Parts: sequence; C-alpha cells; structure tokens
Amino acid sequence: MKQHDIFDSLARNAFDFLERGIDEFDNSPKYSVIHFCAAVEMLLKARLMREHWSLIVAKPEQANLAKFMAGDFASVTMDEARARIRDVAGEDIGSEAFTSFRALANHRNKMIHFFHADMEEDAQAKELIVAEHCRSWFHLHRLLIRWGAYFRDFQVEISQADRSMKKHRKYLSTKLKTLKPELDAARKAGRKPTSCSACGFKAAIPQDEIHDQIKTVSCRVCDYAGTQVEIDCPHCDKPIVVANEGYATCDHCHGAIEPEHLVDALADHDAIHSAIKDGDDSWELANCGTCEGYQTVVRLDDMYFCANCFELSDHLEQCEWCNTPNTGDMDGSYLTGCSHCDGRAGWENDD
Ligand SMILES: [Zn+2]
Ligand SMILES: [Zn+2]
Ligand SMILES: [Zn+2]
Ligand SMILES: [Zn+2]
Repeated sequence: MKQHDIFDSLARNAFDFLERGIDEFDNSPKYSVIHFCAAVEMLLKARLMREHWSLIVAKPEQANLAKFMAGDFASVTMDEARARIRDVAGEDIGSEAFTSFRALANHRNKMIHFFHADMEEDAQAKELIVAEHCRSWFHLHRLLIRWGAYFRDFQVEISQADRSMKKHRKYLSTKLKTLKPELDAARKAGRKPTSCSACGFKAAIPQDEIHDQIKTVSCRVCDYAGTQVEIDCPHCDKPIVVANEGYATCDHCHGAIEPEHLVDALADHDAIHSAIKDGDDSWELANCGTCEGYQTVVRLDDMYFCANCFELSDHLEQCEWCNTPNTGDMDGSYLTGCSHCDGRAGWENDD
C-alpha cells in the first residue's frame, strides 16, 4: 500500500462513519455520536496524511512505517491534529470550527464512560446531538471545500453527506416551534432572525454589530455562532447576507459571490483615495495570515477584516522580506517569507 492508498482508505472510511453517524441517529443516538465524531477525527487525520503519514502518529519522531502499516501506533489527538495542520501545513482550522469539534469529542467521551439509559426516548438529549452534528458538519464541510484539491476524489461523498445532513437537521423543527415566542420577540425588538448557516432554520439572531455591514449572529436552534456580512449582490443588486466566509451564492440570482466582491463592497473608497493622495499606505489591501488569502484584508476604520475567512485583526505587520502588509505574526518572515513570498530562503534556493 502506498501513501496515497492509505489516505484513500482513511478518507473512504471517514465518509462511511459519517453516513453511519447520521443513519443510526434514530435507533441508536449513542453510536451516532461515536461514529460522527470518529469521522471528524479521521478527516482531520486524512488532511495531515496529505503532508506526511508520520504526522498522524502521536510521536512522529518515533514513527515506523512497518508498524504504521500494521496499525501498531498511537495516533494524534484532535488538539494535536489542529496544531500540526497549523504548524506543518500553515493552515488554521479556526477556533469556531475547533470549538464545535471539541464539543462533539467531549460528548463522545461522556457517552463512552457513562451509561445513559433510555437515550432513545430522551428528546432533549437527541436535540443536543443533532445541533452538535449541524455545527460540526457546517465547519467540516467548509474545510473540505477549502481542501478541495486534497479531497478531489471524494466530491460525491461530500455532496451525499451534505444531503443526509439536510434531512437529519429536520429533527430540530420541534425545537424551532418551542422557540417561536422568543424569535417573535426578537423580531419585534428589531433583531430579525436570519437563516442559520449551520441548521438552516430562520433562528440566527443578530448579536453585536462589528461594522454597519458586519454582524455576529447566534442561532437559538443549534447554538451556532458566527459572522455575517450584508452587501448588495454584485450581479443583481439585491441585498444578500454572506455568512462566515467570502464564498457564497446569491439567493436571488444564484450568481457566485467571491471575497473580492466583499472587499469591493466593504472598502471605504473615499478613505483609500485620500490616503493614496497623502502617501499613507495603511489603507492598502493586505494579505491574511490566517487563511493565506491574497489581498483579502480590508481596513474598516481602525480594524482589519478578512473578506475570505472573516477573521478580524487590530493591526497589520509587514513581511520582512517582500514588505507586503499581512495580518498575523510576521516574526522571522525575513527568512521564511509570508503567504506570498518564500523569503530569503526561497530566494537563495532559486539560484
Ligand atoms: Zn442553527
Ligand atoms: Zn444576485
Ligand atoms: Zn483570512
Ligand atoms: Zn513576503
């Protein structure tokens, strides 16, 4: 078996567990939690495999291929997987995503250690599980889209899982009914609930206003929390809401929305114009240190917002090698570069 075959079987297994986690829910919520969580862990490991097989071994410095192939190894924890994806692949999976995976894993651990009788009859416990699945799938799905190049052969499985999740979340419609008075009250108070990106129900209540077009929302049905940007569709001009990342489809005309559209809609063109005249470069577009986005960071008053991954930063740092402004820590970038240059080391290797 080659590295690619191991990746393939790990990913295939993960999607199999995911489907089982969804299918088993009605008859066996306990196994549903266990299988769903295993699927999330396997997909994070599959991503790590794409860097190197030894990264899914708890102690890579002691990794041994023969033992690995025999299944004789301790594998990384979810926290370690996140840290390695960040340190080795240079990609942060984001704290909202990680919090939802963590909640799933804690729940799984509880189920394994403490027997819960009659869970099949416990509607509240079951709602909690579906809500967790919705939040985790929302984030996992986004990661799989972002990692499209690695999961190219699994597009059918990804769409299938998304369809299964859409059916699965209907279980929460009872909860939506019980929340109706609260949602009505929010509407009357001027905080109109919008469609939740994770569970699909119109129960995402606006919370804080970050900027006149950017709000945080929190869903009362599935507890999902995230950021939404309101812009006019660049294709049909109708108002739309873009949630959590710069890629979306317009609800009205089905046109594709991309980060550059958000950058254009959010940028303060007057401020940029007069800054250029004054030789002030602090309003220039910057690159994002979190998602590696190129020119996706736009200045809004005194903060910086990435129109790709929706991360907020309070300052920019210049790459010590190519001088472009970036969010994130640029220490050591003279040697290693930023997301858009390879620094001195890369320049020397080119010779
Ligand atoms: Zn929701
Ligand atoms: Zn449109
Ligand atoms: Zn970003
Ligand atoms: Zn650079």
